[in-house]
Amino acid sequence: MTRYYAGVDVGGSHVSVGLLDEAGNLLLTLDQQLLSNSTVTADELVSIMYRLISQVAFTLFEGENGSGDGAGSNFGSHIASVGVGCPGHVKNGVLVAASNLPLLNDAPLASKLSARLDGIPVVLVNDADAAVAAEVWSKETRSAYRDMENVALITLGTGIGLGLVLNRRLYSGSNGLVEGGHMIVPSCEEGGAARQCGCGQVNCVETFASAKSLGVRFSEMSGSDMDAKAAFHEAANGNLDAERALDDAAKSLAVLVINLCRIVDPDMIVFGGGMSQAGDKLLHRVRSHVKKLSWSVLPTFVKLGIAKSSVNAGLIGAALAGKHDRAVSPSDDDFSTTLSSPIVRLGSLAAAAGVGALLTWLFWARVRR
Ligand SMILES: [Zn+2]
Repeated sequence: MTRYYAGVDVGGSHVSVGLLDEAGNLLLTLDQQLLSNSTVTADELVSIMYRLISQVAFTLFEGENGSGDGAGSNFGSHIASVGVGCPGHVKNGVLVAASNLPLLNDAPLASKLSARLDGIPVVLVNDADAAVAAEVWSKETRSAYRDMENVALITLGTGIGLGLVLNRRLYSGSNGLVEGGHMIVPSCEEGGAARQCGCGQVNCVETFASAKSLGVRFSEMSGSDMDAKAAFHEAANGNLDAERALDDAAKSLAVLVINLCRIVDPDMIVFGGGMSQAGDKLLHRVRSHVKKLSWSVLPTFVKLGIAKSSVNAGLIGAALAGKHDRAVSPSDDDFSTTLSSPIVRLGSLAAAAGVGALLTWLFWARVRR
């Protein structure tokens, strides 16, 4: 019997569900708006996910099982696993914290959903993990990564996320606190002035290089309300403020790239998220700074690129994370070997920030010699 892999993408305003077949084809998707992300509870979210998965399964399998006695009656024989991708800090099947889903702190979403689905294994991943899983393993893009063991994906949106595939598996650290956006970089401000990040630290990569920060910095420089798209447009027209803001963003991303190379030595680092649509206009600036920051003793072989994933990457990546990694089921006594995921936005980030700061210090100390 053909097995299928369900993927769920939980956003701040919607829940989307899709089903992949063994070959990776996305067969059907359904979407439901969240009436209010600030008031949705864990049980309500699980019910929404269950209902959408039921509807997808019923639509696809009704004719196959011929029973017509309810969509949930035959889940186990068709769906091998369910992957759920959501924003925030995820660890061992629990959504520890998500700033845009405040009532879901410490919600054991994976075990709750698995229980509703008669024990089908459920894996919960962070949205950056889902993004890198979609990029590296989806049918449309996987050929580009066939020979690669280690790939990092940096998402450039309101914040900056980091998804890692190491040794061909998702890697989320011991506590789900793998970080990209909150790695500390040298200040790009005049005189090295500190720039406050929402996480409580100063001079995180995110304060210079997220799409939101790029727009904010260009607005401050130009004295008018601008966004990241305007920064790229104006830089192409010779606007020096836009060029400075863009160059600072690229420089910060280059430090992040170099630090990633020193820590995990990836085959490739790709940029995703809204700002990555700038393509070569972003990439050539980052490449230029990576080249300046590289040194001969530790050459940088990493390839840089732009993610190619589709609009359904969130749910496809979640489904593939479920397929490629052992998932949580209610019968699991020990969740310690299951997948965990990184925090992307706010929270306690001291460990990640500390490593970043140390590496950055070592890096600059070396360059200045
Ligand atoms: Zn930060």
